Amino acid sequence: MGGYTYPKAVVFDLDYTVWPCWCDTHITPPLRSTSKNRVTDAYKFNLALYEDVSSIITELVQNDVIIIGASRTATPRIAQELLSLLHIGDKPAIKYFDSLQWGQGSKIKHITKAAKQLQLEDDLKDGQFILFDDEMRNRDVESIRCHFAYVPDEERGLTRQIFEEELTKWTNSRRKQ
Ligand SMILES: [Mg+2]
Repeated sequence: MGGYTYPKAVVFDLDYTVWPCWCDTHITPPLRSTSKNRVTDAYKFNLALYEDVSSIITELVQNDVIIIGASRTATPRIAQELLSLLHIGDKPAIKYFDSLQWGQGSKIKHITKAAKQLQLEDDLKDGQFILFDDEMRNRDVESIRCHFAYVPDEERGLTRQIFEEELTKWTNSRRKQ
């Protein structure tokens, strides 16, 4: 059986999952939009979301999936500004996120907090969360029943192929239960 279904919530790491930089080391304010989906910094470092990210987030929103951001960045304000300047369709990317969680330490903390804030604790317990992330250490979220979807290639970030493969894996694991 092919195809995939959608979980209740998808959590996105930011650096090297949705955009190709560490915003606490590579980006120097002030930031400026050069178009709806491109930003440039003080040193003319240009940044956009990875190519497939917009269509993935749009698809999730159209299917009533809750969108959460979880980042360990030391500079949440830069990340927030990037999400405000970069657009998906006609809206700033930040508007697509139901919750944004920041801070150092395990993403278990970020995800638990978001679930609480959005009253999705039962959905988390039921395995209805997926985290896309480029750092293998964040796989520890599996201990709270969040499916870990690894984003291995920093050149390409989160691609549609990875997205579809991971949703299919998640869907199949639910069918087996
Ligand atoms: Mg990352």
